[in-house]
Amino acid sequence: MTLPPGMSQRDFSAALRQLETAVGKEWVFSAPEDVALYRDAYSPFWDEEEERTASAAVAPDTVEQVQSVMRIANEHRIPIYPISTGRNLAYGGAAPVLSGSVVLDLKRMNRVLEVSEENAYALVEPGVSYFDLYRDIQDRGLKLMIDVPTPGWGSLIGNALDHGAGVTPMRDHWSTQCGMEVVLANGEVLRTGTGAMPNAKTWQQYKYGIGPYIDGIFSQSNFGVITKMGFWLLPEPEVVRALRVTAPRHDDVIKMVEIMSNLTYSGVIDSQFTLASPVLNGPRDAELEALAARPGGGTREEWDRYAESKDRPFWSARFTFYGPQPVVDARWEYARQRYSTIPGVQFEDGPTYRFPMSREQREQAPDKGMLGIPSLSNFTGRTPATPEVADGHMDFSVIVPMTGHDVLAALKVIGRDFAAAGVGARMGTISSFHLRTFILISSFPTMRADREFNRRVRAAYERAVKVTADNGWGQYRSHAAFMDLAVSKYSFNDDALSRFHTTLKDAVDPNGILSAGRYGIWPKDMRGSA
Ligand SMILES: Cc1cc2nc3c(=O)[nH]c(=O)nc-3n(C[C@H](O)[C@H](O)[C@H](O)COP(=O)(O)OP(=O)(O)OC[C@H]3O[C@@H](n4cnc5c(N)ncnc54)[C@H](O)[C@@H]3O)c2cc1C
Repeated sequence: MTLPPGMSQRDFSAALRQLETAVGKEWVFSAPEDVALYRDAYSPFWDEEEERTASAAVAPDTVEQVQSVMRIANEHRIPIYPISTGRNLAYGGAAPVLSGSVVLDLKRMNRVLEVSEENAYALVEPGVSYFDLYRDIQDRGLKLMIDVPTPGWGSLIGNALDHGAGVTPMRDHWSTQCGMEVVLANGEVLRTGTGAMPNAKTWQQYKYGIGPYIDGIFSQSNFGVITKMGFWLLPEPEVVRALRVTAPRHDDVIKMVEIMSNLTYSGVIDSQFTLASPVLNGPRDAELEALAARPGGGTREEWDRYAESKDRPFWSARFTFYGPQPVVDARWEYARQRYSTIPGVQFEDGPTYRFPMSREQREQAPDKGMLGIPSLSNFTGRTPATPEVADGHMDFSVIVPMTGHDVLAALKVIGRDFAAAGVGARMGTISSFHLRTFILISSFPTMRADREFNRRVRAAYERAVKVTADNGWGQYRSHAAFMDLAVSKYSFNDDALSRFHTTLKDAVDPNGILSAGRYGIWPKDMRGSA
């Protein structure tokens, strides 16, 4: 059994008994088969000594119980690792960053506290999943759309805290949060924004309150346990209509992105813009590999000849419009006009969805994500056609400037690096996950029964972080095993930002009990040991 660092079994058992008094005996888990549920199913250290494992888990049901847990943890100096639904797969799952932490599992706190149709917001507890909020809205017949990440079983709060995203106009989940309640390490509760007024009337409508706006310091950090959070929602649109644009040549990406960024900043395109290359992301053959391996990665004429010989457009982009029919149609038409200036461009209309949709239409819709309908359809698993699917993967997510030149440079650098690594890292699409940058999400496979392979994957992941940082592309989010490395690249002026984070940490959590090591923020006595 893993124990909190430096703690004897006897002292830990005594502390667990105190936790049982606080939350009820049946909600403290220390049996190995229960604690195993908090392992990271995709861990790159599976079954190795470095795998991050919990010592126990505790599942409170109320804010008062969370406060009690924090007080007990402070008294015994027990490291605590809060999770909302703990589905952070590809970035560390439910496992703590520091082995031996007690997972504070907030899944039982799954109440949808308020939904306002008129002002399009919801106030939820941490355990509320996308499925929960979606069902609540549907059951009550409210004309609201939520935004979902690809897997719908995660929580609004956990996802937003890690800066996660979906595809609709409300896709940048952190930017849609408005007002939160936080239990600090010492057990004190605070509310942010106008929620600090005891008789607040605009907690979910006005973010800033008065004085310093502090919500941001609770995301990707370890300064508090979030027990409530507000989210802005989209009024259910009349229509959702997609447009796919393809362009034939290598360098067309420059114009494609220029038009797209201008339309996005002007408010014409309001959804995620997803860019892929049917050539670079498509089937690979010896000719393509040879071209990619050329010094400089092949000229644009060579690439154009290759694309033409395969009868494939070089680039394909898709985006979606939301709103009233005449407005959507006008924006759709305008975007089409702007893209018509690229020679050889082709368009594919739709699909188009009209609201309200019946329950049956929603269930059968193939494009659930773009309609804000949670699903788990991404988890197709192994099939006879894909026997080689890995046991898990780690996402590698790089922030790239929104220009075609940068897209080409990033694809070249990352493509070359992945090919050299030889571990089957797969480059994904390039999307405007957030408003003014692209995120290029790639994945590194992990295999439970192959430690040697995982070792090579870890080395390749580390190198990829370094190579991309050398080019000025940071990570937007990090896998738990590589947080120190990802944060170390944000080192301007002798790590001034990290030093500020640790100053805050020491002030709000002097015993360092909350989520030690998350995003490189370690308690005083562990600094430098990671
Ligand atoms: C196939 C696949 C596709 C994916 N697609 C997407 C996608 O489209 N978009 C996307 O954003 N992600 C995606 N992910 C990543 C991930 O699955 C989701 O982001 C998921 O929603 C995160 O899990 P969660 O909501 O349960 O968060 P949690 O695991 O609960 O939380 C994440 C972390 O935040 C902190 N935290 C959580 N709750 C609290 C709290 N209440 N107080 C303090 N700290 C807290 C903890 O450190 C925790 O480890 C994908 C993953 C896979 C495997």
